[in-house]
Amino acid sequence: MNPVYLDHNATTRVDARVVAEMFPYFTEHFANASSKHAGGTRAAQGVLKARRQIQALIGARSESEIVFTSGGTEADNLAIQGALDLDSNRQELVISAVEHPAVLALADHLHRTRGILVHRIGVDGQGRLDREAYSRVLGSRTALVSMMWANNETGTIFPIAELAAEARVNGALFHTDAVQAAGRIPLAVAELGIDLLSLSAHKFHGPKGVGALYLRQGVKLKSLLKGGRQERGMRPGTENVPGIVGAGAAAALCTGLEAAARRQGGLRDRLETGLLQRIPDVLVVGDVDHRLANTLCLAFDLVEGDDVVTLLSRAEIQVSSGSACASGNMEPSHVLRAMRVPFGPSHGAVRFSLGHDTTAADIERVLEVLPGVIAKLRDASETRGVA
Ligand code: PLP
Repeated sequence: MNPVYLDHNATTRVDARVVAEMFPYFTEHFANASSKHAGGTRAAQGVLKARRQIQALIGARSESEIVFTSGGTEADNLAIQGALDLDSNRQELVISAVEHPAVLALADHLHRTRGILVHRIGVDGQGRLDREAYSRVLGSRTALVSMMWANNETGTIFPIAELAAEARVNGALFHTDAVQAAGRIPLAVAELGIDLLSLSAHKFHGPKGVGALYLRQGVKLKSLLKGGRQERGMRPGTENVPGIVGAGAAAALCTGLEAAARRQGGLRDRLETGLLQRIPDVLVVGDVDHRLANTLCLAFDLVEGDDVVTLLSRAEIQVSSGSACASGNMEPSHVLRAMRVPFGPSHGAVRFSLGHDTTAADIERVLEVLPGVIAKLRDASETRGVA
């Protein structure tokens, strides 16, 4: 039996068609894309095609607005660090409390090393941004707002169009980490007035270690790396041509997003309803009205999320927990803490993230296995409590 893989927010399988498109760029068209001979031209054509495919995925005006990077983390770092170097009068950064560590850790670093004032906007119990606090901190000193499009743990979708419009009124640049949104919901960057957007190919059936930063025409950033003139000097270093070709091919396969979301949303809802019927003392975590269709975060009282992951894994079901290992203790993640999920259930948070190849049989299997796993763990913790 194949394992049931419900961890697509962590990473996805590379589509076989993507692998097929990448393959010749390892073996045949292996030349350096900067070389002036025919081999180099062929590799450069592959990169150009991929740039156009990413442009189409996110609704950018021109392929020249796409800068390839080594992934979402680098795209986030390039956007944020680059934008803060632009105007010495604007040295404040606005982020949410539930950003990915690629943004949070950088914001902390910039605060410690450069004294950048970072406004971390909180969220409510459903993960919705505190819009009043957001409006309050925006101003003439704001260099950049960085708000994720969709949250990796809960799937909660922020109202990016409205947040970007408000940033623009205040003269600030707007960056969105769309790593979880790209390939799952339509993204129309040009229409929405977004200045900068990060994405990562391995979240939409492309290869790992390749991402892109959308950089709206007219926005100039300082590059992080010093080196050659690849990616218009924004990202020096010989291009990862097979990876870039794979990212483009994966983007081109992201068609029919609404239909895919309807299908996955139906399966996700069946999973959610089925588990809530079968297991007592469970919370649904996230904004159920504005959530990625593939994501379900549940917080089970009286168990540790990591133990659930381990026991499910033994039953060939792969999911993630909402815990992060901090100094040896399993602590609820910063997202669950920011949402003030009650202490007990927050320790038992588990994320199920579906993908293109998730089937109804996969969902039925989880419904069959998980109630027993939770009951077993709860029994064990009760016994330990008595002893
Ligand atoms: N941002 C978000 C929201 C993510 O979920 C991730 C990866 O999990 C990243 C950034 C980092 O992307 P990458 O793994 O490509 O560096």
